[in-house]
Amino acid sequence: MDKRLIAPGRIIVTAGPTIEPIDPVRYISNYSTGTMGYEIAASGVAHGYDVVLISGPVSLIPPEGVSFQRVTTAGEMKAKVTEELDKCDCIIMSAAVCDFSPEKKEEQKIKKKEKLVLTLKKNPDILKEISTREDILKIGFALETENERANGKKKLKEKNLDLIVVNIKTPEKDPFGEGEKDFLFFYKDGGEKEIKKATKRQIAEIIINEIGEMHKK
Ligand code: C5P
Repeated sequence: MDKRLIAPGRIIVTAGPTIEPIDPVRYISNYSTGTMGYEIAASGVAHGYDVVLISGPVSLIPPEGVSFQRVTTAGEMKAKVTEELDKCDCIIMSAAVCDFSPEKKEEQKIKKKEKLVLTLKKNPDILKEISTREDILKIGFALETENERANGKKKLKEKNLDLIVVNIKTPEKDPFGEGEKDFLFFYKDGGEKEIKKATKRQIAEIIINEIGEMHKK
């Protein structure tokens, strides 16, 4: 199917972590800072796209010109994405959505005890749930601690993405936050490329330029 994305097209960008409450004062989450998504959103606006930035809790200031939606949990992020999806031509899911959340949020703060066993339930996989939407350009991210090539390609296929951008976290390499990082790009048509020592701003520019190219194919 022809996927048309003509600036000013409308893009959903998700960013940051989700946080999943355990009780009124505690949660589980991850180290995502939101930097990648906020750079993509800024670059999208600069290139004339209409950008909806759906962000988990981070300490960044939303770029000027975006339509900003703040969410907390994976469930809330899914609801916002669903609400916006039909108005958009492209989704770039850079958010580090928590794969699990506590089965039950306690009403009151859990008291100290010798041992606490938390039961976690699986969260919705937002990208996978929209994988049949062939009319929308879908770009995902993956953070891997091993077998990054194989795992990245597997997720590209399973989530039926047009592009997946893979980061690797090892004791030597930290993909979180700012600075120069290494990235792997895998495309639906089997193409791939490795970009070493790039800033997230540079990667954001590349992604935004490429979605412009993709719609022309
Ligand atoms: O966590 P995972 O490696 O599967 O993430 C790959 C992609 O899927 C990312 O773009 C992420 O934003 C998205 N994702 C999602 N819903 C989840 C987990 C991940 O949309 N519950």
